[in-house]
Amino acid sequence: MADHILPSLLDKNMAKIVERELEANGVKIILSERVEEILGRDGQIKGIMTSAKHDIDSDFIVLGTGFRPNSEIARDAGVELGYANAIKVDEYMRTNTPDIFAAGDCATARNYITNKDTYIPLGTTANKQGRLAGENVAGGNAKFRGIAGSAITKVFDLFIGTTGLTCEEGIRNGFDPVEEVIESITRAGYYPGNKPIWIKIVVDRKSGRVLGSQIVGGEGVKERIDLIALALT
Ligand SMILES: Cc1cc2nc3c(=O)[nH]c(=O)nc-3n(C[C@H](O)[C@H](O)[C@H](O)COP(=O)(O)OP(=O)(O)OC[C@H]3O[C@@H](n4cnc5c(N)ncnc54)[C@H](O)[C@@H]3O)c2cc1C
Repeated sequence: MADHILPSLLDKNMAKIVERELEANGVKIILSERVEEILGRDGQIKGIMTSAKHDIDSDFIVLGTGFRPNSEIARDAGVELGYANAIKVDEYMRTNTPDIFAAGDCATARNYITNKDTYIPLGTTANKQGRLAGENVAGGNAKFRGIAGSAITKVFDLFIGTTGLTCEEGIRNGFDPVEEVIESITRAGYYPGNKPIWIKIVVDRKSGRVLGSQIVGGEGVKERIDLIALALT
């Protein structure tokens, strides 16, 4: 549906590198088209129809169309929902309702670059928020400092890492981002086994603050993303 793959992780120019890797491995990518219908025949799956009237035959469909918080029980109980309909929590995992705390995939988290609520449901956040909620329910006063949205994934032989804001998110959040992408190799040129790597850093033009980074390459991506995540904090 979007005009590039992995829109929540990558800007378009970095996503293109990943799209090339997929295509080199025989994956056909169709962008900017919405799946509108699952077609069937005699009770069997036949394929899908897209908004551009693309009729694609298939006997096997995997849907990966995003995620939503399971927050209806909280909403029905009068607990306030926030960003993306996740349960709105403060830094102490408190909801607007006394004695009800929330954490993990059902709850919002504060992005520490924008200082706004966001919804990036990952185990690393659920784990930290769950510990804090538990401590605070038991009378503690532990505060969550927020998340940068660091994540890593892999397609075929390419690792993909991200932290902080993409350039597109930087613009949406009122920054004046400037970006640079370097293409290099993962080890010294004379050392065998080096692989290509592309590193993008996004910086706010006015303050010089690092806003985020996206790295795509053959190895060593998570170590480099970790380092920039540390710089962000
Ligand atoms: C395929 C996949 C891969 C993932 N990979 C990663 C990864 O690599 N790294 C990462 O950080 N995160 C990853 N995640 C995300 C991670 O799994 C979640 O962020 C994390 O499990 C959230 O924890 P949670 O405790 O908030 O919710 P959950 O783990 O979803 O636990 C919620 C529990 O509540 C139960 N429940 C729901 N409704 C009710 C009800 N009405 N009554 C009683 N029980 C109920 C559910 O059955 C479930 O057991 C992945 C998720 C998926 C699906």
